[in-house]
Order: sequence, then C-alpha cells, then structure tokens
Amino acid sequence: MAAALLVVPFTRAPAQSPQPAPRTFTRADTLRGSFTTPARAWWDVTFYDLHVAISPADSSIRGYNGITYRVVEIPSTLPEMQVDLMVPLEVDSMVQDGRAVIFRREGNAFFASLVTPQAPGDRKTLTVYYHGKPQVAKRPPWQGGFTWTTDSLGRPWVVTTDQGMGASVWWPNKDTQADEPDSQRVALTLPNPMLDVSNGRLRSTTHNPDGTTTFEWFVVNPINNYAIAVGAGSYEHYSDVLAGERGPLTLDFWPLTYHLEAARRQFPQAKSMLQCFEHWFGPYPWYEDGYKLIEVPNSGMEHQSAVAYGNWYANGYRGRDLSGTGLGMKWDFIIVHESAHEWFGNNITTKDLADMWVHESFANYAENLYTECLFGKQAGADYVIGTRRGIRNDRPIIGTYGVNDQGSGDMYPKGGNMLHTIRQIVGDDEKWRGILRGLNQTFWHQTVMGRQIEEYIGQHAGGGADLSKVFDQYLRTNRIPVFEYKIAGATLSYHWTNVEPGFDMPLKVTLAGSEFTLIHPTEQWQTKAVSLPSAAAFRVDPNFYVDVRNVTPAAPGGGGAKERP
Ligand SMILES: [Zn+2]
Repeated sequence: MAAALLVVPFTRAPAQSPQPAPRTFTRADTLRGSFTTPARAWWDVTFYDLHVAISPADSSIRGYNGITYRVVEIPSTLPEMQVDLMVPLEVDSMVQDGRAVIFRREGNAFFASLVTPQAPGDRKTLTVYYHGKPQVAKRPPWQGGFTWTTDSLGRPWVVTTDQGMGASVWWPNKDTQADEPDSQRVALTLPNPMLDVSNGRLRSTTHNPDGTTTFEWFVVNPINNYAIAVGAGSYEHYSDVLAGERGPLTLDFWPLTYHLEAARRQFPQAKSMLQCFEHWFGPYPWYEDGYKLIEVPNSGMEHQSAVAYGNWYANGYRGRDLSGTGLGMKWDFIIVHESAHEWFGNNITTKDLADMWVHESFANYAENLYTECLFGKQAGADYVIGTRRGIRNDRPIIGTYGVNDQGSGDMYPKGGNMLHTIRQIVGDDEKWRGILRGLNQTFWHQTVMGRQIEEYIGQHAGGGADLSKVFDQYLRTNRIPVFEYKIAGATLSYHWTNVEPGFDMPLKVTLAGSEFTLIHPTEQWQTKAVSLPSAAAFRVDPNFYVDVRNVTPAAPGGGGAKERP
C-alpha cells in the first residue's frame, strides 16, 4: 500500500535503541494469522465465486461467496472448515452439495461442520450467504473497510480497502495471504447509474428490473484476497495498449468523469513505469487480466490488475517528496509505488503478513529504479538515499509470525536501502537485474515465506558474501551496522560493531585517491595500508546504509565522533 510514513526529516532513534517489549497476541490473532491451523490446513482454495449487492442508501451489503477448494489431506477429526467474516456482518447460511451446513461462530471466524465425505483430491464447494453493514474504513487505505462517500458533484462513490486488516471485512473467505484461488469472479450489483470497476476483465453487465446493474468481473490468475476491491462511482473510461515483453498489454483508465482531462495528462506515466519495471523485474504478471488505474477517494492501493489511484493527478506523494531530494516530485508516487506491487506483493505474495517487507521494501526500491530509468543511476541512488530520513529504527521490519502482525514501517525506506546496499555488494548491475527478474520468474504467481526471497538473493548474489547475516541485521534487528575505523599514518584499522554475531558485510571505502575499493570488515579489527592525501580524505561509499564512526584518537574533527557516510 502507499507509504504510511510520518516523515520527520533528519531524526531517528539512536543506533543503540533497545528492542521493544514483545507484543501479546490473542487466540483471535492466531485464527486470523495462522495458515496451518486444523480447520485451514486441509483444504486449498481454487475458486471464489463472489456475488455481492451493495446498497449505498443504508451502507449495507448482501450476497454470497461460492468457495471451491481441493482437499489436500484427510482432516484429522471431523472436517471443520474455517471461513472468516468480520463483525458486524452475519452469515445467513452455508450450503454444500445442496444441503445446509451447520456452523458455529467464534468472533470473526466461522467453523462449518461438513457432513459429506472429503477425500484427498476432491474438489468441493461451500457456498456462504451473508449480509449486514460492513465496518467503515477509519483511515483508508491503512485501516480499511468500506468507504461510502460522494464525489464533488454529490454522486455516490463507494470503494473498499482491506490489506492487513483482511478481506473478510466485507466478504467471506479463507482470510490468509497463504492461500490464493486460481481465479475469481467478482460480480457486484449497484444502484443505477453507478458503475463498478473491479479486478480482471468485465465479462458482462446485466441491468436488473429493480433499478440496479450487475457488473461481472473475472480474474483468470491467482489473486490475493485483499486485492479484490469495489470501485463504484461515476467513472469515465479510456484505454491504451502497451507493446510489452509478452505482447500487447491493455491499459484501461477509469477517472471520475470530471477528471478525464487530468487523467489524460497524468496517466501516460503508467507506460514509462511499466516499461521500466518490465526491464528490471520481468514481464508484467497479468497480461490476461490487463492493467488498470481506477480513481479512489484514498491515496491508493495495489489492487491486482486494478490499481487504486488517489494522488490528485499530481506528481510526488500527495504533494510531498518522501526523499527530500526533489526527485520525488518528478513522477507520480502512487502510479509508481502501487504498480510496483504487481510484481512484489501480487505476483510474489508473502504467506504471512510478518514478511510484508517483501512487498514494501521492493516497492520502495522500485521508486528508485524508476527514478534511475528516467534520470540515470546517480539520481536513483540519490532518491533511495534520500528516503533514509523516514527511517525510525523503532523495531524490526519483520513482525511476529502466525498472528497477522506486521513489523516496523521501516519496511519501506530501510528495506529499500537494504536492497540498494545489496546491489552494491553484488557489484554488477546486469547480475542484480537478473536476480530481480529471477525472483519474479522463480516465484511466479506464488505465495512465499520471506526466507525464500532472502535465500534466493543469497544464492545468486555471489561474491562469497554471506547475505544471511545482512538480512538478519536489517530485517530482524533495529540496529544499524556501525563501521568503526581509525587512521594512523598510512594504516587504516576497522571493524563492524553494533552487529549480529558473524556479520561480515563487504563495504566500499577509499584506500587510495577517490576510488572506492571493496573491503571485507568483520567484528574483529583488521588493518589495511592507505594512501590518502590526509586522514580526512577517507570516505565510505554512501550507497551503503551503515553508520560510520571515526575513533581515531585525537583525530581532527573529534575522536569518537559519529559521521554520516
Ligand atoms: Zn506499498
């Protein structure tokens, strides 16, 4: 989702800030956040057949979801099946094989007691009928739910956002990122003359006798449940085609009617963005479903094949530049950031919210790559280095597993800077591009654990660097590595401190002249001969996100003083 950063320039927690106390979680958190619990593990979703009628007049919805699944293992005891739907919504009934199914409720989780046989390999459908007034989004897109609003002409405008919170805030499903259907129907009924734009392609439009219209959208690829969205209002439509890596890619743009001209001015950026990301990440993952931008009344969300856009048709991020360099004002943050999630977030989806860095760190990093595509490599580096001002180092980037917990907001700028740092270690841009493309190819349309991403990068980075400690340091602690050094005559002494045991990340420094040379510091002090005009001429490559501390006794500028690289 959009970067939920409170940017406080040039302040951050000290590198030695203590780890915060562990958070406590409830049984409800486990029911929501674990994908290995008995009522979830035995079945794999293959298709969601979602039909919902939406009534802006009283902020209510009513509908059903046909959940088709494959039995992957024999349920250990009675086959209970967990279906999630959040209060205050009510399940009216559940049906399987033409028979009503008995269920019990525990908070936001429903447990269906299935009576027909469930044999491994079977394909079965459980249809869940429901209704109610869904939770209203308190702070979309970060705290989601339904947004019932009007556009500036007073016409109804209804959208949903639910990443993190969960898709079960408005429709019954297996609410975990770990299990995606292979395809999904999204058939939404709205009062005339509202027009709904959801995910995938529009298969049919049916005008009902009661003054409503049903819009049947269909996604032919695996899709994460939080990407499924309502986008209903008074939209204008125009389209374009991109000659992409896999052929023609349809681009469809859905601004509000009175924003058509603004959209025609702003949305061409989508083309250069898609070309840049296909170059760095590989083919757009959803040619069959197309690419869309849909105007919404919040900042935006990475809804798969239907990116939600609310950035006021202006460059920057709602008028700001998260990097402080000015470069962020040269392109539209929401078009770039949210669309990057089509690769990292939607193509590669993490099974557990604790690993959300795989979505947000790469999306933050993609902002720098897009800057590089437009203005060159130095500009890209300046941008990502600039975003460091948003890093807090308050707590680790990885959250707690199994309880739908997300880690520090540092997953955006710190994660992006970790990836930029790893690019320096790899030291070969074509190889680095091969890693980014290889990730999208290897984990194409899959859900993963973050460890798989770390291991893939580690295996392909080469150079003898053990990246596992690098990932541990930046993702699992809130401490920044400190490069401590002293210079006595022609001898440089140096080591890492404030690091995980065994941390040995290579680093580029000036040993002679102004050229950077790769050295391999460890926790132990080492020495190297330097040939510099003065000790003050020593530099650490600022592309590495580390702290630098000169501990030369009585060094000019102060022994023990901390410098920014
Ligand atoms: Zn994001």
